[in-house]
Amino acid sequence: MIRKKTVRDIDLTGKTVIMRVDFNVPLDKEGNITDDTRIRAALPTIKYVLEKNTKLILMSHLGRPKGQVKEELRMAPVGRRLSELLGKEVIVCKDSIGEEVKKIISGMQTGDVVLLENLRFHKEEEANDPEFAKELASYADVFVNDAFGTAHRAHASTEGIAHYLPAVAGFLMEKEIDFLGRLLYQPAKPYIAIIGGAKVSTKIGVLEKLLEKVDSLLIGGGMSYTFLKAKGFEVGNSLVETEKINMAFELIKKADEKGVNLMFPVDHVVADKVDESAKTKVVETNAMPKDMIGVDIGPKTVRQYKKEIKRASTIFWNGPMGVFEIDKFAKGTFQIAKAMASAKGTTVVGGGDSVAAVNKVGVADKIDHVSTGGGASLEFLEGKELPGIKVLEDA
Ligand code: ADP
Ligand code: MG
Repeated sequence: MIRKKTVRDIDLTGKTVIMRVDFNVPLDKEGNITDDTRIRAALPTIKYVLEKNTKLILMSHLGRPKGQVKEELRMAPVGRRLSELLGKEVIVCKDSIGEEVKKIISGMQTGDVVLLENLRFHKEEEANDPEFAKELASYADVFVNDAFGTAHRAHASTEGIAHYLPAVAGFLMEKEIDFLGRLLYQPAKPYIAIIGGAKVSTKIGVLEKLLEKVDSLLIGGGMSYTFLKAKGFEVGNSLVETEKINMAFELIKKADEKGVNLMFPVDHVVADKVDESAKTKVVETNAMPKDMIGVDIGPKTVRQYKKEIKRASTIFWNGPMGVFEIDKFAKGTFQIAKAMASAKGTTVVGGGDSVAAVNKVGVADKIDHVSTGGGASLEFLEGKELPGIKVLEDA
Protein backbone atom coordinates (compact mmCIF):
# COMPACT_ATOMS: atom_id res chain seq x y z
CA MET A 1 0.00 0.00 0.00
CA ILE A 2 0.97 3.61 -0.53
CA ARG A 3 0.94 5.52 2.76
CA LYS A 4 1.43 9.25 2.76
CA LYS A 5 1.33 11.83 5.53
CA THR A 6 -1.81 13.91 5.62
CA VAL A 7 -2.79 17.20 7.21
CA ARG A 8 -3.50 15.15 10.35
CA ASP A 9 0.12 14.02 10.62
CA ILE A 10 1.81 17.40 10.69
CA ASP A 11 1.75 20.33 13.11
CA LEU A 12 -0.06 23.13 11.32
CA THR A 13 -0.74 25.44 14.25
CA GLY A 14 0.10 29.04 13.46
CA LYS A 15 1.61 28.16 10.09
CA THR A 16 1.04 29.57 6.63
CA VAL A 17 -0.23 26.76 4.44
CA ILE A 18 -0.20 26.68 0.65
CA MET A 19 -2.66 24.17 -0.75
CA ARG A 20 -3.07 22.89 -4.30
CA VAL A 21 -6.76 22.34 -4.93
CA ASP A 22 -8.72 21.30 -7.99
CA PHE A 23 -10.95 24.28 -8.68
CA ASN A 24 -11.05 23.50 -12.39
CA VAL A 25 -14.83 23.91 -12.49
CA PRO A 26 -17.00 23.95 -15.62
CA LEU A 27 -18.03 27.46 -16.73
CA ASP A 28 -20.79 28.57 -19.12
CA LYS A 29 -20.28 31.16 -21.89
CA GLU A 30 -20.94 34.03 -19.47
CA GLY A 31 -18.29 32.70 -17.10
CA ASN A 32 -20.74 31.39 -14.50
CA ILE A 33 -19.86 28.23 -12.62
CA THR A 34 -22.24 25.49 -13.82
CA ASP A 35 -21.16 22.89 -11.25
CA ASP A 36 -19.39 23.73 -7.97
CA THR A 37 -18.84 20.12 -6.87
CA ARG A 38 -15.06 20.52 -6.95
CA ILE A 39 -15.13 23.62 -4.76
CA ARG A 40 -17.43 21.96 -2.24
CA ALA A 41 -15.28 18.83 -2.28
CA ALA A 42 -12.29 20.84 -1.05
CA LEU A 43 -14.13 22.33 1.94
CA PRO A 44 -13.33 19.61 4.52
CA THR A 45 -9.57 20.03 4.09
CA ILE A 46 -9.86 23.83 3.92
CA LYS A 47 -11.91 23.95 7.14
CA TYR A 48 -9.59 21.52 8.92
CA VAL A 49 -6.54 23.61 8.04
CA LEU A 50 -8.23 26.84 9.13
CA GLU A 51 -9.23 25.32 12.48
CA LYS A 52 -5.50 25.09 13.25
CA ASN A 53 -5.21 28.89 13.37
CA THR A 54 -3.40 29.08 10.07
CA LYS A 55 -3.16 31.44 7.14
CA LEU A 56 -4.31 29.60 4.02
CA ILE A 57 -3.19 30.19 0.43
CA LEU A 58 -5.13 28.24 -2.19
CA MET A 59 -4.02 27.65 -5.77
CA SER A 60 -5.46 25.90 -8.80
CA HIS A 61 -5.59 25.91 -12.55
CA LEU A 62 -8.77 26.63 -14.48
CA GLY A 63 -9.25 25.53 -18.07
CA ARG A 64 -6.44 25.56 -20.60
CA PRO A 65 -4.99 29.08 -20.90
CA LYS A 66 -1.68 27.60 -22.13
CA GLY A 67 0.65 30.07 -20.45
CA GLN A 68 -1.34 33.20 -21.29
CA VAL A 69 -3.67 35.45 -19.35
CA LYS A 70 -7.22 34.67 -20.46
CA GLU A 71 -9.78 37.04 -18.92
CA GLU A 72 -12.52 34.41 -19.09
CA LEU A 73 -10.39 31.99 -17.05
CA ARG A 74 -9.68 34.22 -14.07
CA MET A 75 -10.28 32.72 -10.61
CA ALA A 76 -12.51 35.59 -9.39
CA PRO A 77 -15.85 33.72 -9.83
CA VAL A 78 -14.36 30.69 -8.06
CA GLY A 79 -13.24 32.93 -5.20
CA ARG A 80 -16.76 34.38 -4.89
CA ARG A 81 -18.34 30.92 -4.82
CA LEU A 82 -15.80 29.69 -2.27
CA SER A 83 -16.46 32.73 -0.12
CA GLU A 84 -20.21 31.97 -0.12
CA LEU A 85 -19.59 28.35 0.80
CA LEU A 86 -17.08 29.17 3.55
CA GLY A 87 -19.08 32.09 4.87
CA LYS A 88 -15.98 34.26 4.98
CA GLU A 89 -13.97 36.58 2.78
CA VAL A 90 -11.64 35.08 0.20
CA ILE A 91 -8.97 37.44 -1.11
CA VAL A 92 -8.41 36.74 -4.81
CA CYS A 93 -5.05 37.73 -6.29
CA LYS A 94 -4.67 39.03 -9.86
CA ASP A 95 -1.60 36.86 -10.39
CA SER A 96 -0.11 33.72 -8.87
CA ILE A 97 3.37 35.16 -8.29
CA GLY A 98 5.00 38.59 -8.12
CA GLU A 99 5.16 41.70 -5.95
CA GLU A 100 1.41 42.22 -5.65
CA VAL A 101 0.94 38.65 -4.40
CA LYS A 102 3.83 38.99 -1.94
CA LYS A 103 2.28 42.15 -0.53
CA ILE A 104 -1.09 40.51 -0.03
CA ILE A 105 0.48 37.48 1.63
CA SER A 106 2.68 39.48 3.97
CA GLY A 107 -0.46 41.33 5.11
CA MET A 108 -2.37 38.12 5.92
CA GLN A 109 -3.84 37.60 9.39
CA THR A 110 -4.54 34.26 11.06
CA GLY A 111 -7.69 32.78 9.51
CA ASP A 112 -7.31 34.65 6.22
CA VAL A 113 -7.87 32.81 2.96
CA VAL A 114 -6.07 33.92 -0.21
CA LEU A 115 -6.76 32.43 -3.63
CA LEU A 116 -3.98 32.83 -6.19
CA GLU A 117 -4.79 33.57 -9.83
CA ASN A 118 -5.01 30.73 -12.37
CA LEU A 119 -1.61 29.00 -12.21
CA ARG A 120 -1.63 28.15 -15.90
CA PHE A 121 -1.49 31.83 -16.90
CA HIS A 122 2.25 31.17 -16.51
CA LYS A 123 3.78 28.58 -18.80
CA GLU A 124 6.24 27.81 -15.98
CA GLU A 125 3.48 25.97 -14.11
CA GLU A 126 3.08 23.12 -16.60
CA ALA A 127 6.81 23.21 -17.41
CA ASN A 128 7.48 22.51 -13.71
CA ASP A 129 9.92 25.40 -13.68
CA PRO A 130 11.98 25.25 -10.46
CA GLU A 131 12.12 29.04 -10.01
CA PHE A 132 8.34 29.29 -10.30
CA ALA A 133 7.92 26.40 -7.85
CA LYS A 134 10.40 27.99 -5.44
CA GLU A 135 8.53 31.30 -5.59
CA LEU A 136 5.23 29.55 -4.71
CA ALA A 137 6.97 27.67 -1.91
CA SER A 138 8.40 30.91 -0.50
CA TYR A 139 4.88 32.06 0.45
CA ALA A 140 4.27 29.31 3.02
CA ASP A 141 5.61 26.90 5.64
CA VAL A 142 3.73 23.77 4.57
CA PHE A 143 2.44 22.43 1.24
CA VAL A 144 -0.81 20.47 1.09
CA ASN A 145 -1.89 18.70 -2.08
CA ASP A 146 -5.61 17.97 -2.34
CA ALA A 147 -5.81 17.92 -6.14
CA PHE A 148 -5.76 14.27 -7.15
CA GLY A 149 -6.98 15.09 -10.68
CA THR A 150 -3.63 16.67 -11.56
CA ALA A 151 -1.42 14.34 -9.52
CA HIS A 152 -0.37 12.45 -12.66
CA ARG A 153 1.25 15.61 -14.00
CA ALA A 154 4.57 16.89 -12.68
CA HIS A 155 3.76 20.59 -12.57
CA ALA A 156 5.27 23.33 -10.41
CA SER A 157 2.25 23.41 -8.07
CA THR A 158 1.89 19.61 -7.82
CA GLU A 159 5.45 18.30 -7.85
CA GLY A 160 8.07 21.07 -8.01
CA ILE A 161 6.89 22.92 -4.91
CA ALA A 162 7.06 19.79 -2.76
CA HIS A 163 10.86 19.82 -3.05
CA TYR A 164 11.01 23.04 -1.04
CA LEU A 165 8.42 22.50 1.72
CA PRO A 166 7.12 19.77 4.01
CA ALA A 167 4.45 18.20 1.75
CA VAL A 168 1.35 16.29 2.86
CA ALA A 169 -1.96 15.10 1.42
CA GLY A 170 -5.38 16.65 2.02
CA PHE A 171 -8.46 14.54 2.74
CA LEU A 172 -9.55 14.20 -0.90
CA MET A 173 -6.12 13.01 -1.91
CA GLU A 174 -6.05 10.66 1.08
CA LYS A 175 -9.36 9.05 0.07
CA GLU A 176 -8.19 8.57 -3.51
CA ILE A 177 -4.94 6.93 -2.39
CA ASP A 178 -6.85 4.77 0.05
CA PHE A 179 -9.56 3.45 -2.31
CA LEU A 180 -7.47 3.19 -5.47
CA GLY A 181 -4.56 1.75 -3.48
CA ARG A 182 -6.82 -1.02 -2.20
CA LEU A 183 -7.92 -1.83 -5.76
CA LEU A 184 -4.31 -2.04 -6.81
CA TYR A 185 -2.82 -3.89 -3.85
CA GLN A 186 -5.47 -5.72 -1.87
CA PRO A 187 -8.90 -5.85 -3.51
CA ALA A 188 -11.48 -8.00 -1.73
CA LYS A 189 -12.30 -10.92 -4.04
CA PRO A 190 -14.19 -11.50 -6.23
CA TYR A 191 -12.94 -8.32 -7.88
CA ILE A 192 -14.56 -7.28 -11.12
CA ALA A 193 -13.86 -4.35 -13.43
CA ILE A 194 -16.27 -2.91 -15.96
CA ILE A 195 -14.46 -1.00 -18.67
CA GLY A 196 -16.14 0.91 -21.47
CA GLY A 197 -15.84 4.25 -23.18
CA ALA A 198 -15.01 5.15 -26.71
CA LYS A 199 -11.58 3.76 -27.51
CA VAL A 200 -9.53 0.80 -26.43
CA SER A 201 -6.32 2.70 -27.33
CA THR A 202 -6.70 5.08 -24.36
CA LYS A 203 -7.07 2.21 -21.89
CA ILE A 204 -4.67 -0.54 -22.93
CA GLY A 205 -2.35 0.06 -19.97
CA VAL A 206 -5.09 -0.20 -17.40
CA LEU A 207 -6.69 -3.21 -19.13
CA GLU A 208 -3.37 -5.07 -19.03
CA LYS A 209 -2.87 -4.31 -15.35
CA LEU A 210 -6.47 -5.20 -14.46
CA LEU A 211 -6.04 -8.61 -16.08
CA GLU A 212 -3.46 -9.37 -13.40
CA LYS A 213 -5.87 -8.45 -10.60
CA VAL A 214 -9.49 -9.11 -11.46
CA ASP A 215 -11.63 -12.22 -11.51
CA SER A 216 -13.91 -10.87 -14.21
CA LEU A 217 -13.40 -8.11 -16.75
CA LEU A 218 -16.59 -6.81 -18.34
CA ILE A 219 -16.17 -4.85 -21.57
CA GLY A 220 -18.71 -2.40 -22.97
CA GLY A 221 -19.04 0.80 -24.98
CA GLY A 222 -17.29 1.63 -28.22
CA MET A 223 -14.16 -0.32 -27.32
CA SER A 224 -16.05 -3.62 -27.41
CA TYR A 225 -16.19 -3.47 -31.20
CA THR A 226 -12.43 -3.62 -31.64
CA PHE A 227 -12.48 -6.74 -29.45
CA LEU A 228 -15.47 -8.28 -31.23
CA LYS A 229 -13.79 -7.60 -34.56
CA ALA A 230 -10.68 -9.35 -33.24
CA LYS A 231 -12.90 -12.31 -32.37
CA GLY A 232 -14.13 -12.39 -35.96
CA PHE A 233 -17.61 -10.86 -35.58
CA GLU A 234 -19.27 -8.53 -38.06
CA VAL A 235 -19.60 -5.17 -36.28
CA GLY A 236 -21.10 -3.05 -39.06
CA ASN A 237 -20.24 0.62 -38.83
CA SER A 238 -19.41 0.49 -35.13
CA LEU A 239 -16.33 2.27 -33.78
CA VAL A 240 -13.33 0.05 -34.52
CA GLU A 241 -9.66 0.93 -34.10
CA THR A 242 -8.22 -1.19 -36.88
CA GLU A 243 -4.63 -0.70 -35.74
CA LYS A 244 -5.56 -1.99 -32.26
CA ILE A 245 -7.19 -5.25 -33.34
CA ASN A 246 -3.96 -7.15 -32.73
CA MET A 247 -3.63 -5.60 -29.30
CA ALA A 248 -7.21 -6.60 -28.51
CA PHE A 249 -6.41 -10.13 -29.59
CA GLU A 250 -3.38 -10.18 -27.28
CA LEU A 251 -5.51 -9.00 -24.36
CA ILE A 252 -8.02 -11.79 -25.03
CA LYS A 253 -5.14 -14.27 -25.00
CA LYS A 254 -3.72 -12.83 -21.77
CA ALA A 255 -7.13 -13.07 -20.07
CA ASP A 256 -7.29 -16.71 -21.08
CA GLU A 257 -3.80 -17.42 -19.69
CA LYS A 258 -4.63 -15.67 -16.42
CA GLY A 259 -7.97 -17.45 -16.09
CA VAL A 260 -9.83 -14.13 -16.07
CA ASN A 261 -13.49 -14.29 -17.02
CA LEU A 262 -13.44 -11.78 -19.90
CA MET A 263 -16.96 -10.81 -20.87
CA PHE A 264 -18.23 -9.00 -23.96
CA PRO A 265 -21.70 -7.71 -24.78
CA VAL A 266 -23.95 -10.50 -26.06
CA ASP A 267 -26.45 -8.03 -27.48
CA HIS A 268 -26.47 -4.43 -28.59
CA VAL A 269 -28.60 -1.44 -29.40
CA VAL A 270 -27.69 -0.61 -32.99
CA ALA A 271 -28.59 2.63 -34.75
CA ASP A 272 -28.44 3.91 -38.32
CA LYS A 273 -26.79 7.11 -37.07
CA VAL A 274 -25.50 8.54 -33.79
CA ASP A 275 -28.39 10.92 -33.25
CA GLU A 276 -31.54 11.16 -31.15
CA SER A 277 -33.63 10.74 -34.32
CA ALA A 278 -31.90 7.48 -35.29
CA LYS A 279 -33.72 4.25 -36.11
CA THR A 280 -32.66 1.61 -33.60
CA LYS A 281 -33.08 -2.06 -32.83
CA VAL A 282 -31.64 -4.64 -30.47
CA VAL A 283 -29.53 -7.41 -32.02
CA GLU A 284 -27.36 -10.23 -30.72
CA THR A 285 -23.60 -10.10 -31.19
CA ASN A 286 -23.64 -12.61 -34.04
CA ALA A 287 -26.31 -10.69 -35.94
CA MET A 288 -25.02 -7.14 -36.24
CA PRO A 289 -26.22 -5.51 -39.45
CA LYS A 290 -23.49 -4.33 -41.83
CA ASP A 291 -24.94 -0.83 -42.14
CA MET A 292 -25.61 -0.01 -38.47
CA ILE A 293 -23.62 1.24 -35.47
CA GLY A 294 -23.41 -0.30 -32.02
CA VAL A 295 -24.37 2.49 -29.60
CA ASP A 296 -25.29 0.70 -26.35
CA ILE A 297 -25.23 -2.68 -24.67
CA GLY A 298 -28.48 -4.62 -24.95
CA PRO A 299 -30.82 -5.88 -22.21
CA LYS A 300 -29.36 -9.41 -22.08
CA THR A 301 -25.88 -7.98 -21.54
CA VAL A 302 -27.22 -5.69 -18.83
CA ARG A 303 -28.70 -8.73 -17.03
CA GLN A 304 -25.42 -10.67 -17.25
CA TYR A 305 -23.33 -7.74 -16.08
CA LYS A 306 -25.73 -7.00 -13.21
CA LYS A 307 -25.37 -10.59 -12.04
CA GLU A 308 -21.57 -10.18 -11.93
CA ILE A 309 -21.86 -6.89 -10.06
CA LYS A 310 -24.15 -8.53 -7.52
CA ARG A 311 -21.76 -11.33 -6.66
CA ALA A 312 -18.58 -9.20 -6.52
CA SER A 313 -16.89 -7.89 -3.39
CA THR A 314 -15.03 -5.16 -5.25
CA ILE A 315 -16.23 -3.41 -8.40
CA PHE A 316 -14.36 -0.83 -10.41
CA TRP A 317 -16.12 0.93 -13.27
CA ASN A 318 -14.59 3.17 -15.90
CA GLY A 319 -16.12 4.15 -19.22
CA PRO A 320 -19.79 4.35 -20.25
CA MET A 321 -21.49 1.36 -21.87
CA GLY A 322 -22.82 3.40 -24.79
CA VAL A 323 -23.21 6.87 -26.22
CA PHE A 324 -24.98 7.93 -23.03
CA GLU A 325 -25.00 11.63 -23.97
CA ILE A 326 -27.95 10.72 -26.22
CA ASP A 327 -30.92 9.61 -24.08
CA LYS A 328 -31.93 6.86 -26.50
CA PHE A 329 -28.52 5.20 -26.11
CA ALA A 330 -28.07 5.74 -22.37
CA LYS A 331 -30.07 2.85 -20.95
CA GLY A 332 -27.20 0.37 -20.61
CA THR A 333 -24.94 2.91 -18.91
CA PHE A 334 -27.71 4.04 -16.54
CA GLN A 335 -28.62 0.45 -15.63
CA ILE A 336 -25.00 -0.28 -14.77
CA ALA A 337 -24.88 2.91 -12.66
CA LYS A 338 -27.97 1.77 -10.75
CA ALA A 339 -26.56 -1.71 -10.27
CA MET A 340 -23.36 -0.18 -8.88
CA ALA A 341 -25.45 1.91 -6.48
CA SER A 342 -27.21 -1.13 -5.03
CA ALA A 343 -24.17 -3.44 -5.04
CA LYS A 344 -23.10 -4.86 -1.68
CA GLY A 345 -19.41 -4.90 -2.64
CA THR A 346 -17.08 -1.90 -2.49
CA THR A 347 -17.78 0.28 -5.51
CA VAL A 348 -15.37 2.68 -7.19
CA VAL A 349 -16.10 4.77 -10.27
CA GLY A 350 -13.39 6.68 -12.14
CA GLY A 351 -13.29 8.66 -15.38
CA GLY A 352 -14.80 11.97 -16.42
CA ASP A 353 -17.67 10.57 -18.45
CA SER A 354 -18.40 7.63 -16.15
CA VAL A 355 -18.65 10.02 -13.20
CA ALA A 356 -20.91 12.29 -15.27
CA ALA A 357 -23.16 9.28 -15.94
CA VAL A 358 -23.33 8.38 -12.25
CA ASN A 359 -24.24 11.99 -11.45
CA LYS A 360 -26.85 12.08 -14.20
CA VAL A 361 -28.56 9.04 -12.68
CA GLY A 362 -28.28 10.70 -9.26
CA VAL A 363 -26.57 7.80 -7.48
CA ALA A 364 -23.13 9.28 -6.77
CA ASP A 365 -23.78 9.23 -3.02
CA LYS A 366 -24.46 5.48 -3.18
CA ILE A 367 -21.05 4.74 -4.69
CA ASP A 368 -18.29 4.14 -2.12
CA HIS A 369 -15.75 6.16 -4.02
CA VAL A 370 -16.29 8.45 -6.99
CA SER A 371 -12.81 9.36 -8.13
CA THR A 372 -12.17 13.01 -8.92
CA GLY A 373 -9.42 12.15 -11.39
CA GLY A 374 -10.06 10.74 -14.85
CA GLY A 375 -6.58 10.26 -16.26
CA ALA A 376 -5.03 10.20 -12.79
CA SER A 377 -7.17 7.31 -11.55
CA LEU A 378 -6.40 5.21 -14.63
CA GLU A 379 -2.66 5.86 -14.34
CA PHE A 380 -2.81 4.99 -10.65
CA LEU A 381 -4.53 1.68 -11.43
CA GLU A 382 -1.96 0.97 -14.11
CA GLY A 383 0.49 0.88 -11.23
CA LYS A 384 2.30 4.03 -12.32
CA GLU A 385 3.77 6.22 -9.62
CA LEU A 386 2.00 9.58 -9.87
CA PRO A 387 4.54 12.42 -9.48
CA GLY A 388 2.19 14.54 -7.34
CA ILE A 389 1.76 11.66 -4.88
CA LYS A 390 5.32 10.38 -4.96
CA VAL A 391 6.71 13.68 -3.62
CA LEU A 392 4.44 13.74 -0.56
CA GLU A 393 6.06 12.63 2.68
CA ASP A 394 5.75 8.94 3.50
CA ALA A 395 3.73 8.09 6.58
P1 ADP B 1 -14.32 8.12 -19.21
O1 ADP B 1 -14.28 9.61 -19.39
O2 ADP B 1 -15.34 7.69 -18.20
O3 ADP B 1 -12.97 7.50 -19.00
P2 ADP B 1 -14.23 7.70 -22.05
O4 ADP B 1 -13.80 9.11 -22.24
O5 ADP B 1 -13.24 6.64 -22.32
O6 ADP B 1 -14.86 7.51 -20.59
O7 ADP B 1 -15.46 7.40 -23.00
C1 ADP B 1 -16.62 8.17 -23.00
C2 ADP B 1 -17.17 8.31 -24.37
O8 ADP B 1 -17.36 7.05 -24.99
C3 ADP B 1 -18.53 8.97 -24.35
O9 ADP B 1 -18.44 10.22 -24.99
C4 ADP B 1 -19.42 8.01 -25.12
O10 ADP B 1 -20.30 8.65 -26.01
C5 ADP B 1 -18.42 7.18 -25.90
N1 ADP B 1 -18.97 5.87 -26.27
C6 ADP B 1 -19.47 4.93 -25.46
N2 ADP B 1 -19.94 3.90 -26.17
C7 ADP B 1 -19.74 4.20 -27.47
C8 ADP B 1 -20.03 3.53 -28.71
N3 ADP B 1 -20.62 2.34 -28.71
N4 ADP B 1 -19.67 4.13 -29.85
C9 ADP B 1 -19.06 5.34 -29.83
N5 ADP B 1 -18.75 6.03 -28.72
C10 ADP B 1 -19.09 5.46 -27.53
MG1 MG C 1 -13.76 10.84 -21.07
